[in-house]
Amino acid sequence: MSKPLFASLPGDIDVSFEFFPPKNDKSEEQLWDTVLALAPLRPDFVSVTYGAGGSTRERTHGTVARIIRETGLPTAAHLTCVDASRDEIREVAEGFWNAGVRHIVALRGDPPTMGDRFVPHPGGYASAADLVAGLKDIAPFDISVAAYPETHPEAQDSQADIDNLKRKLDAGASRAITQFFFAPEKFLRFRDLAAAQGIDAPILPGILPVSNVAQTRKFADACGAEIPKWMEELFEGLDNRPESRKLVAATIAAEMCRTLYAEGVRDFHFYTLNRAELSYAVCHLLGMRPREAALVQENAA
Ligand code: FAD
Repeated sequence: MSKPLFASLPGDIDVSFEFFPPKNDKSEEQLWDTVLALAPLRPDFVSVTYGAGGSTRERTHGTVARIIRETGLPTAAHLTCVDASRDEIREVAEGFWNAGVRHIVALRGDPPTMGDRFVPHPGGYASAADLVAGLKDIAPFDISVAAYPETHPEAQDSQADIDNLKRKLDAGASRAITQFFFAPEKFLRFRDLAAAQGIDAPILPGILPVSNVAQTRKFADACGAEIPKWMEELFEGLDNRPESRKLVAATIAAEMCRTLYAEGVRDFHFYTLNRAELSYAVCHLLGMRPREAALVQENAA
């Protein structure tokens, strides 16, 4: 029998979806459509980012509270140390806890102006590892932290960055979520290096299905993620073809995820950018099906 062109996968994966808090009514509606479209995939958790310099404090709170209230999905709130004293962080974290948040993505954060150097608040936390320890004193949160397959731009070297990841896990975090990357081998090398340093916590690859290279370049440059030449080439000539760009984006992300899957990766974190279709398509290609549809089929059998 010939090998199928696209072997189906059993869907034995766990996924999580990251959103950002909406700025106005229109983007709130878009976020909500996205949450409702992705919810039937039964993600392990969803998360909501925290704007640079704490600029979305209320909006992050409002968004996580609404997702929990209206969908019951396990929802993580991101939280950063930027421009906040320890008391202010306690207040925000207690607010999250009271709204039903049990999972925090604990980050150092970046200054509001891109390119500025992080300076800790005089009465605040100096690093994500310090924040993790502080949060554990506030409530028994489940905590995720950031990891960098291509090394954080401020780290002395890749070893120092892995040491820092270990400090964050030792301080009480239970998993790491990576910065986005486009070369699966970089993630796999990082996973091996981390394992060699005794890190056994799950490391979730951060998947960014890119349909606009120009926009992504801006973020990629700031966070040290390389956009490979082959990717630039794949989008050449598609500037005026947004639909074709989306199809190309889904193909690239699916190929990357299936490569990771073949290497034993079973957890995937999607940077959705508050749009459902690309992440949904990639999950579908990874074998996931909405729970309701599965139940309907079971009931019909
Ligand atoms: P840290 O882990 O504190 O590390 C920062 C740098 O300092 C690293 O280079 C590290 O190696 C170094 N370092 C730390 N401690 C030491 C030490 N003791 N000795 C030597 N070196 C040390 N940003 C936001 O503003 N809002 C968000 O919601 C947000 N969500 C994110 C989600 C994910 C999954 C990821 C990967 C990033 C996210 N970011 C977010 C970006 C993040 O805030 C930045 O990448 C920031 O520059 C670093 O944050 P961190 O938590 O990794 O910091």
